[in-house]
Amino acid sequence: MAHKERVKPVDNSEEDQNIDSLLRPTTWQEYIGQEHVKKNLRVIIEAARKRGEPVDHLLFYGQAGLGKTTLARLVAYEMSAPLKTTSGPAIEKTGDLAAILSNLEANDILFIDEAHRLNRMIEEVLYPAMESRKLHIVIGKGAGARTVSIDLPPFTLIAATTRMNLLSEPLRSRFGAILRLDYYDNKDIELILERSARILGISTTPEAIAILAEASRFTPRVANRLLKRARDYVQVKKKAVIDEEAARQTLEMLDIDKFGLEAHDRQLLSIIIDKFGGGPVGIGTLAAALNEDRGAIEDVYEPYLLKLGLIRRTPAGRVAELLAYECLGRKPKGELF
Ligand code: ADP
Repeated sequence: MAHKERVKPVDNSEEDQNIDSLLRPTTWQEYIGQEHVKKNLRVIIEAARKRGEPVDHLLFYGQAGLGKTTLARLVAYEMSAPLKTTSGPAIEKTGDLAAILSNLEANDILFIDEAHRLNRMIEEVLYPAMESRKLHIVIGKGAGARTVSIDLPPFTLIAATTRMNLLSEPLRSRFGAILRLDYYDNKDIELILERSARILGISTTPEAIAILAEASRFTPRVANRLLKRARDYVQVKKKAVIDEEAARQTLEMLDIDKFGLEAHDRQLLSIIIDKFGGGPVGIGTLAAALNEDRGAIEDVYEPYLLKLGLIRRTPAGRVAELLAYECLGRKPKGELF
């Protein structure tokens, strides 16, 4: 079933894309945070190198912008292996995947982003390729159809997903390691902002870095996006430094509050608080009120609100916490003054 996923605003100007590739870490030292994942990967890579084999198939999961693609590139770099990149929605037919797999060379790394959007037929082709490096292709139709089996070279599949729940169990079980990327802590986001500012040659004040970091949803991609927009702001205003005022004005222009909440987050909170008296509200009701897919609310919208402590999941439904009232400028139930 196709599911709706609200597309977040992305930076797609050519300049933005150039900046993005400039900011992408290319060494483990530059890849800030996610120590647990890095430690695991180092062991996996080291062991594979010693055996002279490609790395086991890997699955990275976590919210968008946390660094899954960057990690895949780092693994490829460490293994001195070429990285071939595609994504779940780009592989529509089994023939598309067959073409990709049959073009792989020994030790290549195939990166499939948004793996939860691979359909079941594609997954069926992927299983034998992952398990025994076989590509089964059906030739012909009806009674005359026959299956041809092609041997594939040793390769590594790295898949990434933001929606672990949508990934089928048989696919999940075929990965040698499943690594979860977590939100970054504020200190790491500040380090990422400082590194990016250095690369872009922009001066910043510590206050501005702290403000941008707090609004970055604990996510490097968001941090870099805010920094780019703050850089635009100071350029237009002919200021030399991104200072506190520039950081605040940038957030205001983007309609992002100091906690990084965007319009859709505030809408979700407002439904719980204004329409349902603070909750509890069942997830189905919330999905209907937001005209949004229930799974997307659980996997994409809620994690950040839960992390900030703005909402709580209870058996009866979602409940707004005190901080959520504060964010929306509302008085909690029962409070008169
Ligand atoms: P994902 O694939 O999880 O959506 P990406 O790997 O594309 O995320 O990361 C988004 C951007 O965030 C990258 O271009 C990179 O500049 C930055 N980034 C991600 N992780 C880190 C990190 N650990 N340290 C520094 N920058 C990072």
